[in-house]
Amino acid sequence: MTLRVANFESQLRMLERFSCQVIPLSEWVAWRLAGAAGASLPPRAVVLTADDGHRSQFEVMAPLLRERNWPVTLFVYPSAISNAAYAMTWPQLRELAASPLVSVQSHTFWHPNLLRERERMPPDAFRRFAADQLTRSRSTLEQRLSRPVDLLAWPFGLSDEGLALQAAEAGYQAAFALGNRSASAADPPFAVPRHLMVDSVDAHQLAARLQAAFSSEAPP
Ligand SMILES: [Zn+2]
Repeated sequence: MTLRVANFESQLRMLERFSCQVIPLSEWVAWRLAGAAGASLPPRAVVLTADDGHRSQFEVMAPLLRERNWPVTLFVYPSAISNAAYAMTWPQLRELAASPLVSVQSHTFWHPNLLRERERMPPDAFRRFAADQLTRSRSTLEQRLSRPVDLLAWPFGLSDEGLALQAAEAGYQAAFALGNRSASAADPPFAVPRHLMVDSVDAHQLAARLQAAFSSEAPP
C-alpha cells in the first residue's frame, strides 16, 4: 500500500532470499479455477498486486520489479487516472500495460465503500449502482488499454455474497480482498485474501509471514 522505497526494496530482497517465485496473478487464478485437475503452482509462489493507480507505481515500483523480471497486477479505478494529482495518467498506464509483466485490472470505477452504500440505498438502486461500478470500470479499462479485464479488487477489501454474485454477472473471474493471510484453494474465488503491505511491515515481519506461508513446503 503505502511504504518507503527503502522498505519496499528490503521486502523485495527478502522475497529473493526466500527463493520465492513471483508468478502472474492470472496464473494463480487459472490454478484456483481449474481445481485439482489443473497444473500445480511452483513452490514458494508469490503474487504481487498494487491498488489505486498511484504515480509512484509508475515511477518507483515498476522499475524495481522490471529489474527482477517480476510480474505485477495493478488494480485501478479509472475515475482517478489522468485526473487525481497522485494518480498515473492514461499514457503512463498504457506504457505499463504494454509490458508482458504488467496486468491492469479493475478496482471499480470510483472506489466506493460498497457496504456503506448498500446500507444507504434502496436495494434496487444499490444493485444498479454496484453493477455500474463493476461494468464501467471494466469497459473503460478494456477500451483505453486494449487488454482484457476480468479480475477485480474490492475497494477497501469490502464485499459480501450479493456483490460476489454481481461481480460474476459483470464478467469477472475472481475478486480480491484484504485479510493479511495467504490465499489458498479453500478461499472463495470472489473473496481471495491478500497481505496488506504497509510501512510497518519491515523485512523481518515479512520473513515471519513467508516462513508461516511456506511452512508446509519443502525448503527450496
Ligand atoms: Zn483501493
